[in-house]
Amino acid sequence: MAKCKCCGNKGFMVETDVNGLCSACAPYYYLTMPDDLKELEKDIKALERISQPEAALGRLDSARQLLERLRPYAAAGLVRLPRTLHELEAWLDEQQAYWQDHA
Ligand SMILES: [Zn+2]
Repeated sequence: MAKCKCCGNKGFMVETDVNGLCSACAPYYYLTMPDDLKELEKDIKALERISQPEAALGRLDSARQLLERLRPYAAAGLVRLPRTLHELEAWLDEQQAYWQDHA
């Protein structure tokens, strides 16, 4: 019986590939994740030197959406994020609080 490393789906109907991913989780991993990771790194770099509140909040939104998609893969150890999931979330929360105060 196979079990997906990412979503935890298991059963006799579940087939997993060499990376332990089911057919629902595999396409994102192979097709979209490399781009999402690049986007996330861009958002982080931009946030480190941004000075416009609206631009910063836009980047934060984008980073959070990317992180939501990457989360189960990161939690399953299938992807290396620029920082750990926990560090990234704490950092994004800090940035959010800072920019909301300065908006
Ligand atoms: Zn899955």
